[in-house]
Amino acid sequence: NGSNEPIIICENVNKWYGNFHALKDVSLRVKRGEVVVICGPSGSGKSTFIRTINRLEEHQEGRIIVDGIEMTNDIRNIDAIRREVGMVFQQFNLFPHLTVLQNITLAPIWVRKKTRKEAEAKAFELLERVGIREQAHKYPGQLSGGQQQRVAIARALAMEPRIMLFDEPTSALDPEMVKEVLDVMKTLARSGMTMLCVTHEMGFAREVSDRIVFMDQGQIVEEGTPDQFFTNPRNERTKLFLSQIL
Ligand code: ADP
Ligand code: MG
Repeated sequence: NGSNEPIIICENVNKWYGNFHALKDVSLRVKRGEVVVICGPSGSGKSTFIRTINRLEEHQEGRIIVDGIEMTNDIRNIDAIRREVGMVFQQFNLFPHLTVLQNITLAPIWVRKKTRKEAEAKAFELLERVGIREQAHKYPGQLSGGQQQRVAIARALAMEPRIMLFDEPTSALDPEMVKEVLDVMKTLARSGMTMLCVTHEMGFAREVSDRIVFMDQGQIVEEGTPDQFFTNPRNERTKLFLSQIL
């Protein structure tokens, strides 16, 4: 579906954890190929929000429509949306007892019913893309954090998603490894992937994103182009946040 309809539509999404109102009327539309950075203080609902998009968290009110499919309780819709969405977490969540290659080919073989040969060919292509082809037969524990995160990105891409969600993908990395992961994300962004990235890497946000969304206390309180956001933030909370982070 290559229409001009936004690929992600969130309308007045509300979520509570018990009595705690974690998402308050969150609305966001993301166009195909758009790269949106979400930032905001810890506890502002960033993870909760992006996790509602592939139903790792369930929202109670509002609508979420991904590539024309509405997120309902129907497992068929949930599966259909999950097929479209790849996710990369702060913790890489690789299977420690599987090699890099096995980590990447597992779901394509078992979920997508690809042949091993097909899945491995694709995996090597992706490993080449993220710059770690030589590590294919190593175990996650033998790799640096930056290499493990690049495996996690390759693993998500192996399912051929149309959308990639990143939740603080560089926050668990030693500083010298942050750039290699951001470079992979940058290349992915330039290839036309639709991306929603929770990150506090403001250099990446400035250089790569089309739009920056600022969340505070469960709400989107400001959004704009990087230029607007950095040079002319309107919201006091945004200004405070930027003064602390830049
Ligand atoms: P962020 O990613 O912006 O740091 P989160 O989305 O993780 O924020 O959390 C938003 C708020 O929801 C926080 O106050 C957090 O404590 C709360 N929260 C997150 N997950 C749960 C949960 N499973 N149960 C109860 N409260 C939660
Ligand atoms: Mg978070």
